[in-house]
Amino acid sequence: MKITVWNEYRHELSEEKVAKVYPNGIHNCIKDFLVANGFDDVSTATLDEPEHGLTQEVLDATDVLFWWGHMAHHEVSDEIVERVYQRVMQGMGLVVLHSGHASKIFRKLMGTESQNLRWRENDETEIMWNIMPGHPIMEGIGANVVIPQEETYGEHFMIPQPDEVVMISWFTGGEVFRSACTFRRGAGKIFYFKPGHETYPIYHMPEVQKILCNAAKWVYAPNCAKIQLGHFPEPMMK
Ligand code: ZN
Repeated sequence: MKITVWNEYRHELSEEKVAKVYPNGIHNCIKDFLVANGFDDVSTATLDEPEHGLTQEVLDATDVLFWWGHMAHHEVSDEIVERVYQRVMQGMGLVVLHSGHASKIFRKLMGTESQNLRWRENDETEIMWNIMPGHPIMEGIGANVVIPQEETYGEHFMIPQPDEVVMISWFTGGEVFRSACTFRRGAGKIFYFKPGHETYPIYHMPEVQKILCNAAKWVYAPNCAKIQLGHFPEPMMK
């Protein structure tokens, strides 16, 4: 399985508080725990690389793409978004993290203009409840995962009805949120995972890492047949 971890990589370079949590960037933190958990072909790509690090060649070779973005969604070129979209249609797995809910690629895949939600940065505790204990993404996860401090996201979350809501979060401020959801678009499987605000060490948490390793396996479609579209003048049967 070839994994590419894409990160906007701006907060880490411009805010000391974030750099302290992720000195090598969120992408390298995610890469490191994936490798430590046995995924042996993991690369990274960032916004400011040529073609955002997502050339056609890179995407064609990618089975699973992770996506973290926040302050510069608008700087992601439409051409690259279309390229990622087409790969998802053809079966590339996609894991969208945290503020990636408002990314161009997630909005395009969801088909809704706004991916808005309630939010607040108030150091609240998030309790993620496991509501699909038999789901492969919940393997090894107990009844809940407690994140001591995290940005609050609350309903309503303007997504289409997910195929599956795997976890629901509750925050000390009172909100609830569909924080781990699955979708299918074309041949591709998509997992949205809410935690990961850049100022908190969320991706250093073993339970979060376990969920994201499980998610990489779940969105992976190794035997996906090439989708055939368009006009076929010759009948298949003669
Ligand atoms: Zn955030």
